[in-house]
Amino acid sequence: MPYAFGHLMGCWAFAKLYEKLRKYAFSHMEWGLLLFGSIVPDADLLIDWAFGTTIHRGVMHSLFFSIIAGIIVYGLATALKQKYKTFKPAAYGFAIALGILTHIILDMVLGRPGIRALWPSTMGFWLFGMAPYPPHTFFSNDIVRLMKFAIGDMALGTAWIGYFWLRKRIKF
Ligand SMILES: [Zn+2]
Repeated sequence: MPYAFGHLMGCWAFAKLYEKLRKYAFSHMEWGLLLFGSIVPDADLLIDWAFGTTIHRGVMHSLFFSIIAGIIVYGLATALKQKYKTFKPAAYGFAIALGILTHIILDMVLGRPGIRALWPSTMGFWLFGMAPYPPHTFFSNDIVRLMKFAIGDMALGTAWIGYFWLRKRIKF
């Protein structure tokens, strides 16, 4: 289960390989969507902490979510195309779906209990196996507090990279 930076780097490696194999170059916007997609599934952890739910590694770690996010981005880009003529709805929808897919694959690499990739099925999948996804284990308050600091740190680092992307000061 990689964290924010593992996911960003994993997605970058996948996307670079894709560019090479397909002889394609992702645009600035597509890179932004790819990398955003590669970390957005773990926002379910924040939702769990904020609202006391237990959706982590559920719906937002599923193929369903990847497709829905692709359709939403496609729809938004289509609507905005009136104003921003250079927008490419299909490429943008594909980019976010691919970014989410890289997250799903990386989370499956490290094995049990995997993720609920076929949500709403309650089966947990990892690279070479599957088993019913276990009920959530609860950590001690100390560990949760430490994890919140670590995740806050990852959010800062990610926002920092996002800022460089926004200002076009970083190229992938
Ligand atoms: Zn994850």
